[in-house]
Amino acid sequence: MPEQFHWRGLRVPYITAWSAEAVLQPAVVRVTRRGGKGIGYEDEDPVTDRRHEALWVRSGMARGRGTPDFSRINSLRQKRAMRYDLCQLCGFTVLGIRDDERTLCLMGGDSPIEEGETTTAPPIHPVCAKYSVENCPPLRRAHAAALVDCSRLWGVAGVIFDPVTMQPLPSTGSRPGDLDHVHVGDKAIRWTLANFTVHSLHGVTPVSTDELYAMAQSQPGIPGGELVSAP
Ligand SMILES: [Zn+2]
Repeated sequence: MPEQFHWRGLRVPYITAWSAEAVLQPAVVRVTRRGGKGIGYEDEDPVTDRRHEALWVRSGMARGRGTPDFSRINSLRQKRAMRYDLCQLCGFTVLGIRDDERTLCLMGGDSPIEEGETTTAPPIHPVCAKYSVENCPPLRRAHAAALVDCSRLWGVAGVIFDPVTMQPLPSTGSRPGDLDHVHVGDKAIRWTLANFTVHSLHGVTPVSTDELYAMAQSQPGIPGGELVSAP
């Protein structure tokens, strides 16, 4: 069961990266693997370094060791949270708390979450979303929430390399340094150094902050995790 770590009185989200998890990133080289050419590592491990045909950044797993970096996300825990519907704050499952099995999505910024939108944000419990909105400065400034009928694997978020120069291509995102979202069916995925899993959101119903607080009030318990009701 995921343990809840605190830092200076605040709960540290399950997906947040810790300083002890930083590992040396190997050089990216041009390789030919089953399926064609792309980027790879000289000492690539086909099980841990490659998924959905993309090459993945390497990451340690040492949650709670060193200091948390609230601006960074651990690639392995993000992947795990997306795959198993784990709450991005407490790390417990978000399934089984609503009869309709819809899940809650919370994002920074003030644009509403749209139908079909792609995201790297794992789901979140209503009580955990309330805690995050009250305690996480970027979310306190602006956030959007929605209930989602279904969230499907869409692709990866990462940096695309130029097959000729082998240099990272500039991001097409709205801010410099944004990761590109690359679809699993896109040939560019073989030239992408992936950081995170991307899902697409379907059956999206926007949720206001008042509605979010009401949901947190009516669903305080998390299956198997009393930790969450006493932040
Ligand atoms: Zn939670």
